[in-house]
Formats: sequence, structure tokens, C-alpha cells
Amino acid sequence: MSRYRLQPTPVQEAALLEHCGHARYVWNLAVEQHAHWRPGLKSAPGFAEQCRQLTQARAEFGWLRAGSIIVQQQALKDFAQALANFFGGTHRRPGWRRRGRGEGFRIVAVKPGDVRRVSRNVGEVRVPKVGWVRFRWSRAVPVGVRSYRVTRDAAGRWHVAFAAIPAPVPGPGTGGVVGVDRGVSVSAALSTGELLNAPTLRDTEKRRLLRLLRGLARAERGSNRRGRVKAAIARLKAREVDRRKDWVEKTSTDLARHFDVIAVEELKIGSMTRSAKGTLAEPGRNVRQKAGLNRGILANGWGLLVERLEHKAPGRVQKINPRYTSRTCNACKHVAGKSRESQALFLCVACGWRDNADVNAARNIRDTAAGHAVAARGGAGLPEPVNREPQHDRLPVG
Ligand SMILES: [Zn+2]
Repeated sequence: MSRYRLQPTPVQEAALLEHCGHARYVWNLAVEQHAHWRPGLKSAPGFAEQCRQLTQARAEFGWLRAGSIIVQQQALKDFAQALANFFGGTHRRPGWRRRGRGEGFRIVAVKPGDVRRVSRNVGEVRVPKVGWVRFRWSRAVPVGVRSYRVTRDAAGRWHVAFAAIPAPVPGPGTGGVVGVDRGVSVSAALSTGELLNAPTLRDTEKRRLLRLLRGLARAERGSNRRGRVKAAIARLKAREVDRRKDWVEKTSTDLARHFDVIAVEELKIGSMTRSAKGTLAEPGRNVRQKAGLNRGILANGWGLLVERLEHKAPGRVQKINPRYTSRTCNACKHVAGKSRESQALFLCVACGWRDNADVNAARNIRDTAAGHAVAARGGAGLPEPVNREPQHDRLPVG
């Protein structure tokens, strides 16, 4: 995802706002339908059913029909994704969208000619029913853009973010396998012993954010100052998100380039989030800290990292059942929950092996995958080609 400053003319801005309005209207309809749903009731309409309802609504309302069906359908898709995130335990329940807050819409089925550079610093993107809209060509637009999202921030600035499937990165051809574990105390641990941390805000930025948040609490509702403070907070948070995304791109490219097989845990977001709470008999340590960390990793990093790995190393990513990876001693293979001394330290109760807990898990993941790889070589051969069509409903939003 690369984001660019969009520079619409006043006439175009009005048309973009109309798209935003349609997306918001459709989203809020979906929210309303799900607000009435309670466990035990017949299920609330799913995406397919909502699309049928959208067709009906368009037949009924001329103003909705006049808008772009892509914008409206994608709003439903975004909602379906938001709902999946909610049930996965990583996000809050999707709520109402209000005018002027987090407005945006998504366009899919973008053709190669729909994005072009017109001069050194200026590009243009074709927006359905709006036409060519200029944007600042602040860096190269990725090749193979399949979809993009247009957003308007609280400060009234427009952005366009392009999503493309990155080109595969060739592996080294040495047969090297690496295990990657979602760390608890770090963002990711490698079986090589390397610990990777996704960047966060710098200390000075964190202090500034804290100051702004305190200022926000004091600022009067509806005041100009409140608006300014909110915009400054949004900018800082966006900076952190951008840094994490850059980190994901760099890390996934590095892994794809240096290893032929990249083994990761099969992602089970729900159980990961639950594990921070621990059980009654064995309460999780640093629950609050870890819960916050989990949210951060889940929301910003891990899922995206695996997705990018699958794009850049198609057929070379192996997903491993994480069942015993954190409780097995990598040295003697003894399995015991008690060997996990703390979140950060693994100390084998059988052989006394001591290691960073995340690295120990990463090595177990690597070894499991290496076993698979050996079996695959003797059998059907190399990984099958994967479908490289983009999965729009899994593209990161925002
Ligand atoms: Zn051991």
C-alpha cells in the first residue's frame, strides 16, 4: 500500500464527497442490520444477501443508482471484513460512520491505464464517475495496481492509496528454511536467533502524542483547537502505521530473498488474543501489556507480513500448526508447559536447555517445516503455483 496526496479540483472534490456519502450510507445500512442481530436469532444478512439488497435499493433510489456500484459494493465488503475482524477478536464492533470522519471509498478492478504520470511530480488516477484526478507523484507507483482507496482525513486532505500484488522475489536456491514466530516480547523471532521489532513512535513522538491526548481532553467540544489537536493526533498515528507498513515490506522482501522456505505459524487470531488472558489456574503474565501488544501486532503487522510473504514468495511459505511450538524444547524435543519459564524465556524442565522463548518456538517451526520439505521433495515435488489474483476483501483497509 502506498499513499499519495490527492489534489482534486473543487468540482471533483464535490463528486468524491458524493462517493464518500454513498459508501457511508451503505456501510451504515449494514451496521443497522447487524445492530438488531443477537445470538440465537436467524443470522443477520451476509455479504451476498446484502449485495442483493443493494441492487434493490439502487432500483428504488435514483440518487443511489446515480453513484458508482463499485463504491457501494466495496463499502459492503469493507463492512464484512470489519465484522470478521470483530469476531476474530482483534477489532471493535464496526460502528456508524459520520460525515467528515474517516471518510473514504474503494475502487477495484483497476486497469493498467487508470494510473498515469503526467509530469515529474504529478500523477493522475481515473476515478469512476469523477474522471482523472491529480495526485502528487511523491514516489514511484507500484506496478500492477489492482485497487485503490481514496480517503479524506479529519483535516480535509485527500489521499489515494494503491494496492498492488508485489512481484515475486527469487529465493537463494540453497534450500534454506527459516522459522518465523510471532513474538511476545518482540514483533517476530527468527530461527536464526534474530529478533525483529516493528518500529513504533520515537520517544519524543510518544511524549508529544501524550501531550496532545491530554490537550484533547481539555479542549472544548466543537472548538477549532479541538479540531487542530485531533488532526495532529491523526498525523502522528498515521506516521506509526506508515512505519510499520514499511517494516513489513522490507522484512518480507528480506525473508523471501534469503530463504527458500519460510515457515510461519498458521494464523489463529482468536486463540492468540485469548492466550494473553491465560487461564484461571495459570493467569497470563503482563496481561495488560501483552494485550496491548497483541492488538498492535494483530492490527498492524503480523497478518500483513504473512500476506506479503505469500505474495513475494509464492508457494514457498509453509504454515505450521502452532500447537506445540512454544512448549517443545528444540534441543531434546521434550514437551512441557512448565518449560516456558516466562513469556521471554524458555527453560527446558528435562534437559535444562535455555533460550529466548520466541526463538525456541521459531526453531520448532523451522524444524517442522524442514520435515515437510523433505517429504515434499521425495513426493510430488515442488510447491504448486498459487492463484495470484488479488483478494480484495483481504487487502488492508486504510
Ligand atoms: Zn530439553
